[in-house]
Amino acid sequence: MKFFNTLTRKKDDFEPLEGNTVRIYSCGPTVYNYAHIGNLRAYLFMDLLRRGLRYNGYDLKHVMNITDVGHLVSDADTGEDKMEKAAREQKKDPYEIAAFYTKEFFADFERLNIEKPEIIAKATDHIAEMEKYVQEIMENGYAYETGNGVYFDISKLDRYGILSGTNTEEQMAGARIEVDSEKRNPLDFALWIKAPENHIMKWDSQWGKCYPGWHIECSAMGRKYLGDVFDIHTGGEDHIPIHHENEIAQAKGATGKIPAKFWMHVAFLTVDGGKMSKSLGNCYRIAELQEKGFEPLAYRYFCLNSHYKSKLNFTFDALKGAQTSLNRLREGIKQHALGNDSAEKEEIAQYKEQFREAINDDLNSPKALAILWEVVRKEKKSKDYLDLILDFDRVLGLDLDIEKIKKLEESKEDSMSDEVKALIEQRNQARAEKNWAEADRIRDLLNQMGIQINDKKA
Ligand code: AMP
Ligand code: ZN
Repeated sequence: MKFFNTLTRKKDDFEPLEGNTVRIYSCGPTVYNYAHIGNLRAYLFMDLLRRGLRYNGYDLKHVMNITDVGHLVSDADTGEDKMEKAAREQKKDPYEIAAFYTKEFFADFERLNIEKPEIIAKATDHIAEMEKYVQEIMENGYAYETGNGVYFDISKLDRYGILSGTNTEEQMAGARIEVDSEKRNPLDFALWIKAPENHIMKWDSQWGKCYPGWHIECSAMGRKYLGDVFDIHTGGEDHIPIHHENEIAQAKGATGKIPAKFWMHVAFLTVDGGKMSKSLGNCYRIAELQEKGFEPLAYRYFCLNSHYKSKLNFTFDALKGAQTSLNRLREGIKQHALGNDSAEKEEIAQYKEQFREAINDDLNSPKALAILWEVVRKEKKSKDYLDLILDFDRVLGLDLDIEKIKKLEESKEDSMSDEVKALIEQRNQARAEKNWAEADRIRDLLNQMGIQINDKKA
């Protein structure tokens, strides 16, 4: 397999560092709010990576963290702790908020067929490991204490900015005017933060009542479960310049090593060509797409249809297209299930090879989907293709098993109200009479009720 490695800026051949088990760390959510579809793109990428590796016969030891303390409003160390802010605004306990949104986060995993990593590590369960990590950095001379906390001293590194390829001077020029005048360098970042009186989440430590910085959380938890150096570290592209740069700095301070061999980053999702933001009301959740009549798996299809390193723009038209494609895939698969032809073993082997090549070339999911379509569209209808499609679906995770497709259709029919059924019947009648205006009118009505109509091609 080859993966694009942010660290080397090229596609590198992948081999696990030890044996057959791939050790992966993925930066998980900060659980102060619902995950939006942009966040979920990052976890769909993570899932594709897992499935691609397993398709190649590797075992996985994969850790994902849940950040329930210490992630400040700005990824660099300014602003309030996101958890505490949510707690204050919602007048709730931060632990209660964390528990609620963690549950919701994994509900989205189920909706989207995202597998849970083997180890889920909650930050507040690992405070002792984090303190010890900070202590090691301090003992090695890479950190210093101020009135606000313990800071990493980036001037002690040979180089800061190894992942983003920037140099310290450039970053300094862009750095904000500092709030903490005790910092030796504007780019020094907090490892351990002295908690103000009103900070609810805080722990006794050798530096007084403190809470961990976001970056140290990932370093400490990754090391605990995966060792000093593991195979792959994943995250969104926003993690490259600060969060992951700081994780590398911390590991260098503690162990002298870069903690992962491969650093893989998923590009951002935009909505209607722009950034998602609360004020624009476009931070959609999966549940909201469902309310508009789309299946979560249509969003999965939509993401798979672009390479994870390409920026992806979400529009409802594009999602509609993905839903239509998914429906057509199912129709095509049903045709094969009815077919009595047989397929050549050699042909099947060739398709498998092509599919594997696509996945192994830096997880080229759009190409993998194109190969799937070629099989689904085969003129010859054969049950032999069903097994092949099922094999591809181990990576794609689109629930393409014929039994699942049948069950889904049954449940859709059962849940349709009599009113909807009557409208669909009227529309079929209008179409039969070529009364297109009436058919369109009813389609719009159904759309307003959240029902998507996908007509088969005439
Ligand atoms: P957070 O909960 O804010 O720490 O983010 C969780 C994950 O979602 C991180 O890996 C981010 O890089 C990723 N992420 C946030 N916004 C987007 C977006 N618009 N597109 C893709 N990934 C995103
Ligand atoms: Zn992280």
